[in-house]
Amino acid sequence: MWAESYSLTFIHIGDLGELNLQTWAGGRPKPLDVYGGPGVEQVVDGFNQAYRQDQGYRTAHHTEKIVPAATWPMVAHPVVLDGPETPERSRTGLVLEDGPLRISALEVNHDPVVPAYAYRFDYEGRSVVVTGDTKYHPPLITGAQGADVLVSEAIARPMVEVLEKSLASAGNDRAAAIMHDVQDYHISPTEAAKIANAAGVKLLVFYHLMPAPDAFLTRRLFAHGVNDVRKGNWAIAEDGSLYTLPLGSSEVQIGRVRY
Ligand SMILES: [Zn+2]
Repeated sequence: MWAESYSLTFIHIGDLGELNLQTWAGGRPKPLDVYGGPGVEQVVDGFNQAYRQDQGYRTAHHTEKIVPAATWPMVAHPVVLDGPETPERSRTGLVLEDGPLRISALEVNHDPVVPAYAYRFDYEGRSVVVTGDTKYHPPLITGAQGADVLVSEAIARPMVEVLEKSLASAGNDRAAAIMHDVQDYHISPTEAAKIANAAGVKLLVFYHLMPAPDAFLTRRLFAHGVNDVRKGNWAIAEDGSLYTLPLGSSEVQIGRVRY
């Protein structure tokens, strides 16, 4: 029996182990099904192996009743695209169908990641398409046709170009090379907007932002040279930063707002 509502949560691959752990400890009634392209078995096996000791300790500590071993290991489901590979990279594949819920894989272009998938979720006349990682890929116009929401990755190339040049001039050739390479395998906000318009998408949402506005590198670049003028005793504020000046003291406490 299908659910009456679904929620989509976006994580990057590094968080898969924690997602499994947290939902298991939270009382998920069955093992977590993980769908993905070829190779998903290897990813799932690896996370299962890395977390297996942790699971054993937790079950020993909290008992089988609270965190049963049987619901812990993730189960991999490779999603196969229909038909032979073509240069257009426009194949689709069925991920799963559960009553009115239909999840499809849409081939995108994220070379050298082959095959790379976007996903489309259709449920009771509502639809969401999530690009995953992709460069500008016109076949997505078909795949995202009429979607309520297109959730698109996005790269701000002018910002990344600045990062590349700054890193190169600072002598960090390795990071500069990475910043160079990423520019041709992600989609820009304007390119994503073109796809969304041509597909008749209602709402375009950017995620998987590059550079993340609050990323380590942008923070480093932002503060470049500050340490030459003033050693330490400075900070870059971010959402939730809290600076407290207790009365009768010269102390400045750096903390965070509690939500
Ligand atoms: Zn990514």
